[in-house]
Amino acid sequence: MDSDSVKAKFIFVTGGVVSSLGKGVASAAAGSLLECHGLKVTFLKFDPYINVDPGTMNPFQHGEVFVTDDGTETDLDLGHYERYTTVTTSRKNNYTTGKIYYNVITKERRGEYLGGTVQMVPHITDEIKRCILEAANSMDIVIVEIGGTVGDIEGLPFLEAIRQFKYDMGSDRTLYIHLTLIPFVKTADEIKTKPTQHSVNKMREIGIQPDILLCRTDRPISEEVKKKIALFCNVESEAVIIARDVENIYEIPLMLHDDGLDRIIIKKLNLSVQEPDLSRWIDIVNRIRNPKGKVTIAIVGKYINLRDSYKSLCEALIHGGLANNVDVNLQLVDAEEIDSNGPESLLSDVDGILVPGGFGNRGIEGKIKTIRYARENRKPFFGICLGMQCAVIEFARHVAGMKDANSTEFDEKTLYPVIHIMPDQEGKEKGGTMRLGAYPCVLMPNSTAYQAYKSGKISERHRHRYEFNNAYRDDLIKTGLVISGLYPQKDLVEIVELKEHPWFLATQFHPEFKSRPTAPHPLFTSFIGAAVRQAE
Ligand code: GLN
Repeated sequence: MDSDSVKAKFIFVTGGVVSSLGKGVASAAAGSLLECHGLKVTFLKFDPYINVDPGTMNPFQHGEVFVTDDGTETDLDLGHYERYTTVTTSRKNNYTTGKIYYNVITKERRGEYLGGTVQMVPHITDEIKRCILEAANSMDIVIVEIGGTVGDIEGLPFLEAIRQFKYDMGSDRTLYIHLTLIPFVKTADEIKTKPTQHSVNKMREIGIQPDILLCRTDRPISEEVKKKIALFCNVESEAVIIARDVENIYEIPLMLHDDGLDRIIIKKLNLSVQEPDLSRWIDIVNRIRNPKGKVTIAIVGKYINLRDSYKSLCEALIHGGLANNVDVNLQLVDAEEIDSNGPESLLSDVDGILVPGGFGNRGIEGKIKTIRYARENRKPFFGICLGMQCAVIEFARHVAGMKDANSTEFDEKTLYPVIHIMPDQEGKEKGGTMRLGAYPCVLMPNSTAYQAYKSGKISERHRHRYEFNNAYRDDLIKTGLVISGLYPQKDLVEIVELKEHPWFLATQFHPEFKSRPTAPHPLFTSFIGAAVRQAE
């Protein structure tokens, strides 16, 4: 694709001073505001690490792996992009350094560089620019987020590529937003702008003058300080946007709008747009600020010290709360602690229990005890992926009388392998055996799932290796397990439920990836509804 055939304009978002300032959310919120003006927006995230994708990375290090419809394992920021906008992302929306080099090296091996010396500039930078243009398609705006912080060695090729982008495309089609921190230094009782000045200097050293500064701060910033930042950083003072800490991340679009972010983007990129329709965000903020009640949900898993590991899940539960007009209090509970101390003390006060996805042995018995507790004590229960597999194991062991039933992931020699690896997957290398991305699912009429979706045919995203073993299907159905969702082409079990229970449902897929605050996912809405009834 050459630059002449692309009509889009490009916004580049970089970060300075420190990491974790919320570049992903800021980019997503900016995109959502531009959508409110009627523009067609898409996103691209560059991650400056060598892994080809985050699929093999530990959630403790990297946070959640977000899965797209086309089965790409991506950075969790793509989840923010989807949640704040109407965008559905794909493999074209996330590239790592590893992927860029992989593409270049593959071309080199094929002889595509015709005997030339393959170099960082222009070959790596050209590949980065090619990916940006490819994402542009028929869009009005492409928001390109560069992971990491300016000054990182890893980020340099990306920054060089986006510097060249303005040179190639012209200044009316490119805009640089730099996210920084304005700290308050207690001993001086003062707000400090110096780190931001240094960070912008660092950007200028590599040839990029930010157009807009998005300043993260925990307190109001005076006009005087704004002017100072503008003067020292060489931006207009109306382009210094203050992004204060907020209680709820869905307040960010309106906050940035109030400080003029969309206005200045539109002006600088010379966009012709309609007046913004902000009603969706006004409605969400109203719901957040005026809940009619509160429920407590326990997430019983193993990555409990890093909330980012369950990012989409936590958000989907909050969306379920928005749909029911209640505040959702999330408690992350360590499955191993339940295994040692029993479920009663940790779970008796909660209104609903969720066992999420995961890999590996650790915490499995605690999860099974949790599910037994939810089943026997009639607590609303939602199992997702590994949570569904554990629910099947629990039912097999304690209801169907299959002693020590298990998944072959945890016990290869179990007498009752109710969860197993499909024969066509066996023996393959780990990376190649996952069922990834969107698969259709047919729902059983009158089931809890059907009532929630109000539809008989759905599509949901997957990320797992093991499956429900159909050899045990009839026996489990006879003893009361309801199979309410199937992937028809391969006759695979996708959803299980229990009848004589207020709400007990578990899915092989990950519904959390498709929930949005503007369109809360039906299963999360239904689950939180059951928790509300439990709390009454
Ligand atoms: N470890 C299980 C599997 O591979 C579950 C995976 C998950 O929960 N995402 O099938």
